[in-house]
Amino acid sequence: MKRKGILIVVSGFSGAGKGTLMKELLKRYDNYALSVSMTTRAPREGEVDGESYFFVDKETFERTIEEDGLIEYASYCGNYYGTPRKYVEKCLQDGRDVILEIEIQGALKVKEKFPEALLLFVMPPSAAELKRRLEGRGTESPEVIRERLVRASEEAEGIENYEYLIINDDLDECVREMNDIINAARRNPVRNRHLIADMRSELDAVVKGE
Ligand code: 5GP
Repeated sequence: MKRKGILIVVSGFSGAGKGTLMKELLKRYDNYALSVSMTTRAPREGEVDGESYFFVDKETFERTIEEDGLIEYASYCGNYYGTPRKYVEKCLQDGRDVILEIEIQGALKVKEKFPEALLLFVMPPSAAELKRRLEGRGTESPEVIRERLVRASEEAEGIENYEYLIINDDLDECVREMNDIINAARRNPVRNRHLIADMRSELDAVVKGE
């Protein structure tokens, strides 16, 4: 029987290194597909439309919400971010594991709609390191960096809603660990309801046949 993919939600503070982590994970393992979000945020230098994000204006975003084209969406630091529905549903049907790299409000909405989704939270080794990474990126103004640190401390309140913590210290180790966690989570009964149901009816048949 063809397996259905699992939905993996990855959240973490802005600057925790999620982007780099996801890129490396996709490079090393071929069963993952990364969903490209839609946003009203302006592109950063080097970001490509359709690869980093689908960059749209507010009207287009709101129209997509009305048309039920998004699995979830949230407002983050003054901009909309959302997950387009079609790509995710197609990948899951094709048996691929889809990764949504989204913030916490969206993650909780996904968990409501898809209770079997796997929620992972990426943390930097320390808050000082987070600040250093945000400043080192050189793409954001000091005000935006401060706004993102404030947001990080708000998001820290919701970490217990996630199933696993990933500490992003050493990239290589972190990627391996993340793949191991996903593989272990695949075996959770919550994500194998069809297998359990099949086993129960087979057992019934065997017992009755005796
Ligand atoms: P950034 O502006 O740094 O690219 O992203 C800001 C935050 O928005 C990050 O925490 C990122 O994970 C989150 N984000 C990106 N795409 C989505 C999305 O489709 N939905 C939600 N809810 N958050 C998203």
